[in-house]
Amino acid sequence: MSKQTSSIVQDSLNALYDDESFLPDLKNGTREKAFTSLVSILSTPNHVNKSFLRVTLENEKVIRIPAFRVQHNNILGPYKGGIRFHESVNEEEVINLASLMTLKNALHQVPFGGGKGGVVINPREFDVKELNLICKKYIQYFSEILGPDKDIPAPDVGTGDREMDWMMGEYKSIRPGSRYRGSFTGKSVVNGGSLGRREATGKGVYYTFRYMLHDFIQSQRKWLEERNNIFAKTALDHSDKDLTLAIQGFGNVGSIAALEAYRCNYLNNKIVAVSDRNVTLYNSDGLDIPALVKITAANKGDLPTSDEELTNAEVKAKIMDRADVLSLDTDVLVLAALEDQVHAKNVQDVKARIIVEGANSPVTAEADKILSDNGVIIVPDILANAGGVIVSYYEWLQGRDTQFYTEEEVYKKQFDKMKETFDTILPQFFGDPHPLRQNCYIHAVSKLSTVLYRQGKLY
Ligand code: NAD
Repeated sequence: MSKQTSSIVQDSLNALYDDESFLPDLKNGTREKAFTSLVSILSTPNHVNKSFLRVTLENEKVIRIPAFRVQHNNILGPYKGGIRFHESVNEEEVINLASLMTLKNALHQVPFGGGKGGVVINPREFDVKELNLICKKYIQYFSEILGPDKDIPAPDVGTGDREMDWMMGEYKSIRPGSRYRGSFTGKSVVNGGSLGRREATGKGVYYTFRYMLHDFIQSQRKWLEERNNIFAKTALDHSDKDLTLAIQGFGNVGSIAALEAYRCNYLNNKIVAVSDRNVTLYNSDGLDIPALVKITAANKGDLPTSDEELTNAEVKAKIMDRADVLSLDTDVLVLAALEDQVHAKNVQDVKARIIVEGANSPVTAEADKILSDNGVIIVPDILANAGGVIVSYYEWLQGRDTQFYTEEEVYKKQFDKMKETFDTILPQFFGDPHPLRQNCYIHAVSKLSTVLYRQGKLY
């Protein structure tokens, strides 16, 4: 678990320790022992599985690829979490991402635990047959520990429905006769995936922002105005104005969040910048997001990088450095690329007053503290980007029951579930001075701790 996550878990337990209504049966010495046990349980993964996949490339060379499956905690249900294909994947990162999944599922009342997988490759360097082989090998090495009631992978950076379809196919071949439909989520719809799953995370990221800045403020304006705290002021300052947005990352999460913001009728959004691994595109009058989505789809997921490409796509934008997106003078910054993007060295350049974490851990602990102390609202990953795992849960249910929902039913279920969480968290956040991340962690840790206690795991 990263320092940031473990220190927030520790802070949450400290806050809960002093709350007499939390686990009131535990008193004095017993309470102290139980809380020490909770720190130990929640900050350590149950299992770290590591293998070196033996893969024969098309040129007949044999290589060994490091691969992980971390199972952090399953007190709430089977382990659940994506598999990332990226050259910088490492054990610590996968452990951290798995622990975030435990907390995210607890926060949103999804009956799953937390897991995560990683394969240390740049998928762009392999052809389709080699990628297929890598997926199969991953399953051959890890199939024993996976399954619909044990551990259910999903896509993450560098993987998508194609990889999940391949992996489910291999799982089914290796374990004939076993239940396989719920073994992977994020599959293609034709192969048992859920309608709406591809869009779920990006839609949820935007919905979280919109709910806070529109729905919640509309219903609670008077109450908020009476609150005398910096975060309520930031929210109110931004509730009635035309908003400018910059979005880092234009992949699955970033591009869908951008489309939602572009089409939103509740807020006056203008998306002035989007970025990816190569460039930032900027237009002070607002970017044509649907046109950019179309062109990236035809360009292996990359934004245009030359004036010629922009002209061909009939998009007006200035090309800037990829890091420039972080320091533009916008109201809102959506981080939907990778972790650790805003850190101690660049945090003073960030001008946005509201940051939405579409990616996992995109703001480091140091940067988070500086921004929060200045009244910047950071909508944390575990609150904002849970749409994917929530719809994965509905995909798992649909696979189990072989009854499939319409796209509208899926979105309604997703938004209803997220709204339930917001209605618990937002009044607490605006009502007390803790940053939003801390509020979410306290809620998640409280749920996990109570279940651990009820299941007798603290003795
Ligand atoms: P993706 O691979 O589809 O897109 C990633 C985007 O980030 C691409 O546009 C890429 O060019 C860009 N990028 C890569 N390196 C960058 C850099 N250094 N600077 C700027 N941009 C860079 O991935 P995704 O599925 O959209 O996931 C994005 C983030 O959201 C990840 O942190 C992932 O863990 C998190 N997340 C994804 C889901 C999901 O359902 N896809 C769910 C929860 C969280």
